[in-house]
Amino acid sequence: MRVTMIGTGYVGLVSGTCFADFGHTVICVDKDASKIEALNKGQIPIYEPGLAELVAKNVREERLSFTTDAAEAIASADAVFIAVGTPSRRGDGHADLSYVYGAAEEIAAAIKDFTVVVTKSTVPVGTGDEVEDIIRRVNPAADFAVVSNPEFLREGAAIEDFKRPDRIVVGTDDQRAVQVMRELYRPLYLNETPILVTRRRTSELIKYAANAFLAVKITFINEMADLCEKVGANVQEVSRGIGLDNRIGSKFLHAGPGYGGSCFPKDTLALSKIGHEAGSPVQIVDTVIKVNDDRKLAMADKVIRHLGGDIAGKTIAVLGLAFKPNTDDMREAPSIPIVKRLQEAGATIRAFDPVSMHEASKSMADVMFCDGPYHAVENADAVVIITEWDQFRALDLTRLKSIMRAPNVVDLRNIYRMEDMTQRGFNYVSVGRSY
Ligand code: NAD
Repeated sequence: MRVTMIGTGYVGLVSGTCFADFGHTVICVDKDASKIEALNKGQIPIYEPGLAELVAKNVREERLSFTTDAAEAIASADAVFIAVGTPSRRGDGHADLSYVYGAAEEIAAAIKDFTVVVTKSTVPVGTGDEVEDIIRRVNPAADFAVVSNPEFLREGAAIEDFKRPDRIVVGTDDQRAVQVMRELYRPLYLNETPILVTRRRTSELIKYAANAFLAVKITFINEMADLCEKVGANVQEVSRGIGLDNRIGSKFLHAGPGYGGSCFPKDTLALSKIGHEAGSPVQIVDTVIKVNDDRKLAMADKVIRHLGGDIAGKTIAVLGLAFKPNTDDMREAPSIPIVKRLQEAGATIRAFDPVSMHEASKSMADVMFCDGPYHAVENADAVVIITEWDQFRALDLTRLKSIMRAPNVVDLRNIYRMEDMTQRGFNYVSVGRSY
């Protein structure tokens, strides 16, 4: 099949490349000319493990190409995917749909023959109806169907997730479109990946419901962690104790500094908006948003408390800035408000992250970005682990201690054992572990 992907960000580039790898012919379009120029030179604008190799392979085998010329790419496609950003609208938290609607207009003007227009971006319920109206208004003669096909991949494991998803959700009533979608994903359902076909509005809601549910799970265990600290319990054991119950499941039960990233914060906000506007507030999600926002600052306060309540003039080393390991994505990363709060309290910040420092430098001021973890902790009064990159899990603790000014460690990801750290003479605190 001929596929055109509008938007070549995390989702568009990974989905487009994987569709090409399935054997389809894919053109990835972006209006950011610098991105397309880089891709045409073989450079990958984002950090995603395995992606550079997969892009190179499919370009070499002539199934994958990149362009800024949307019209030509759309005209030749069986399916056009909209994979543009849907960030929170400034001020009200509603999803900003201007990029989606902009893409719909471009598609409308260029389609020829029957075309399936697939919304892969995460969009509020009813957006598919609006996309359909736009295309019909701009091009009344167009033969098309608008399908919702939300994406569930995770950054850092995006290729594996795209190629081996738990399920594929397709929202449409149009049988021709269902056939095209089945053909596109055929290599997957040959491997028995379930394809769930629903009405379009249901499919749109599934994506928000999935992300909000995961955000609830994370926030629940974070609150359990706080409770553990008060009552002398251990949150990792609580997680294991509840996670072994199949009805609950063990994923997304790791206590930490609060969820961040390009999806959960904006999608929980958008779902909250959708609920309020529909007259059916999702109160649990409203609460989760507030608890999670408060948590990031509470983590900075935890650091300040651990250092005796006054950090003015102290130097704090931060290990890990990205919102999770294996990505350079800094969107809504908990490190941003934590670092800001520590700076406001008078601390100097030295930081290291294996891949996100360039991105981080756009949203953090007055931070000294270092060459490695040991460089960051030099003469520091404390080290705060914010992101659990593998390379931080097995630091040379003797070396670490010898180059720090004071052996204070705040481990917001629980990657070290309390006993070990105390025995080695660190003044160690983690999240939700009283022992
Ligand atoms: P992104 O910001 O990384 O990429 C979006 C790209 O679209 C940008 O490169 C931008 O230049 C381009 N663009 C915007 N308008 C365009 C147009 N008219 N024509 C061509 N290109 C255009 O965004 P992302 O992280 O890939 O997310 C895209 C969507 O997928 C969002 O709705 C997001 O919620 C959803 N999603 C993201 C993830 C994730 O992990 N990032 C996972 C699942 C779903």
